[in-house]
Amino acid sequence: GLPTMPPPVLAQRRRTRQIQVGKIGVGSDHPVSIQSMTTTLTADVNSTLQQIAELTAAGCDIVRVACPSQDDADALPMIARKSQIPVIADIHFQPRYVFAAIEAGCAAVRVNPGNIKKFDDRVGEIAQAAKETGTPIRIGVNAGSLDERLLSKYGKATPEALVESALWEASLFAEHDFHDLKISVKHNDPVVMVRAYELLAERCDYPLHLGVTEAGPMFQGTIKSAVAFGTLLAKGIGDTIRVSLSAPPVEEVKVATQILQSLNLRPRRLEIVSCPSCGRAQVDVYRLANEVSAALQDMEIPLRVAVMGCVVNGPGEAREADLGVASGNGKGQIFVKGQVVKTVPEHMIVETLIEEAMRIHEEITED
Ligand code: SF4
Repeated sequence: GLPTMPPPVLAQRRRTRQIQVGKIGVGSDHPVSIQSMTTTLTADVNSTLQQIAELTAAGCDIVRVACPSQDDADALPMIARKSQIPVIADIHFQPRYVFAAIEAGCAAVRVNPGNIKKFDDRVGEIAQAAKETGTPIRIGVNAGSLDERLLSKYGKATPEALVESALWEASLFAEHDFHDLKISVKHNDPVVMVRAYELLAERCDYPLHLGVTEAGPMFQGTIKSAVAFGTLLAKGIGDTIRVSLSAPPVEEVKVATQILQSLNLRPRRLEIVSCPSCGRAQVDVYRLANEVSAALQDMEIPLRVAVMGCVVNGPGEAREADLGVASGNGKGQIFVKGQVVKTVPEHMIVETLIEEAMRIHEEITED
């Protein structure tokens, strides 16, 4: 067939060094990857692997597991071996778990400089161990655990303070000729967070891991993350993302996927183009949009489905979509690739759209 143009994006990616987190490349040569973190006790290997399998199925590229105790450290070799996606060990407070995680075969290790007190004098050893195994390190600076020295210098976790902390730690690794780093500077306030990443992006070429920390419950967290990540990704900043929600981690992956799809940084799958409804609507648009969305959400093909309440914009949008309905007078005109294929009564709109979607799916997957 005809060569298809890649969909437009808002900016070229910021040029970065490349690192390899297991099978996933992180940096400007690679697609922006999605991370999440397990909520199980890491020492409970079966539950953790079960949750990793769910995250993998939802489209997660990289998973992080907490490692607060020796039991957790002991579980890392099995988890790293059995996980379908690269596993990053998340270490606070205990430098010795960094070595355990590297030995366990974890794809990377996240350290929080503010929380690893005796970290500075052990950077050489960590760099050495990580270099021998090709294990990258994430320097994960967090507003809630900023280095006390910087906290007293800046008074609070300002963008400058977060960036200074990160670059200081990176320089300690660089002194040992270790550059397989990625960096995060998380804050719960999207404005501070965006500014911090912008500064960081200007001042280094390490790949960046984006996160709004403690973003909150689903609704607030989704919006804060979408706004903050969207602002940065629209300027080409950000190489891997983690949405933090006070909700099951699979939800984080779904939100992250939608953010990347919205910016054309990941191929779009199901996209429902539905109108908000108004006084002109002649069908129940909310119900139709929700039912169609629920029925088609697992479709593995790109599919744009228009669900429109009346004839004002209905036929236009329905014609632009792969599939659509424009409603009026208790009936729905069903469009496929711009052509009206049939007109059905209102109660048959949903099932007809689903039937047509399945037909399109079959045609595409047969080719
Ligand atoms: Fe209102 Fe019709 Fe527009 Fe839907 S398509 S918002 S019903 S004018």
